[in-house]
Amino acid sequence: MQVLQGKNLLRIKETNQSAILRMIYYYGPISRSDIAQRLELTLPTITTNINKMLGEGLIKETFIRGKAPNPSGRRAHPLYINQQACYFGGVELKNTNWSVCVTDFGGRILASAEGVCPDGDYDNFIWQIGRDFTACLAESGKKLEELCGIGISLPGLVDREKGILKINSRYRWIERDVCSDFARLTGYQGKITLENNAIARGLSAQLFNWDEVENGKSFAYLVVSAGIACPLFLNTSSYRGSVVDAGEAGHMVLDPHGRLCICGNHGCLEAYASEYAIINDCKKEMEQGRAGILREISKERQELTIADIVQAQEAGDLDVCRIVENAIYMLGIAATNIINFAGPDIMLVDCQLFKNASNRQLFLDYTQSSRGNPVHFKYFKTTLSFVDSDRFIGALGAAAVAIDEKLEIVM
Ligand SMILES: [Zn+2]
Repeated sequence: MQVLQGKNLLRIKETNQSAILRMIYYYGPISRSDIAQRLELTLPTITTNINKMLGEGLIKETFIRGKAPNPSGRRAHPLYINQQACYFGGVELKNTNWSVCVTDFGGRILASAEGVCPDGDYDNFIWQIGRDFTACLAESGKKLEELCGIGISLPGLVDREKGILKINSRYRWIERDVCSDFARLTGYQGKITLENNAIARGLSAQLFNWDEVENGKSFAYLVVSAGIACPLFLNTSSYRGSVVDAGEAGHMVLDPHGRLCICGNHGCLEAYASEYAIINDCKKEMEQGRAGILREISKERQELTIADIVQAQEAGDLDVCRIVENAIYMLGIAATNIINFAGPDIMLVDCQLFKNASNRQLFLDYTQSSRGNPVHFKYFKTTLSFVDSDRFIGALGAAAVAIDEKLEIVM
């Protein structure tokens, strides 16, 4: 975490406030002297800033039994964030699905909803999420004006400053003014922040699972969804978000003579191991009269899902097992490449296939064997861990973008 010293007093004040609030967010309950020590700031600076945040209700202090709060005893009271200080909205678009949620300041989900837009049409998508976000907000018992911010995340290249999606090659959407469209449909007049969904999910890990990443100076967040991305985050800097932007790992070429990818190259990771590729491979098997167990499981479904595929694999569908194992093999090579190249201290893996314990083990076997790679990743001391891929992890990631924005701009 960075603190500033210098002549631009307003900037210094903003940065210090943000750093102090982040400390309380990550480490709370935490004492004033601990914050001062960690940030190398003076206790009076800490106290002034903290009194302001206490006054605004952003943070609270723990009451210590038997010790009445008085001006001299205050410092002993550890601080933590006030979960009910403000509320946030999150929206993720992924593949043909979308999910929305309303959370409190601590990232606790108050209400959530999800849906499918099979045709992938932008106007349909945005209209549906606008309508269902409004319903979700009503269910949470909060009002639009109570929201401190809304985060929207989706795959592709985004211009966060302008709130515009530059390009999404899967949907073939170009230059979409997502934030303005969402504001128009919902009537929300507050801050809406657009972010790439892999970065959003990484931010969510940083905010809500700090204990998993705090022991590393850097962490990579490998997300396998419609596409595959692996943004890299620094824990030691105040630099917000990822240092390698969205980390588009999906178009890493693993076989130059391999399958054609949507990007026009051959043998990209995404052509074998994205959810889109796995689902398509399984659909082809079903069309050819194979994958009988999966056909039975998914016969009443509008859309085949990764959850169905994992279920069929667990039930012993050999055609599905083959496809899943091949995808995991490719993911193992890719993860090892990333670790060899970037050497992050921690790699978090967010992939629905790893709900299954034997799939996790297979992935670990492939990354820990040096197959396909000359360098064994263990020499980088990278700790691998799996993210519990809950249905609303993406919407929560989007809300994390809005919460992170609040932590950055405290004033
Ligand atoms: Zn590609």
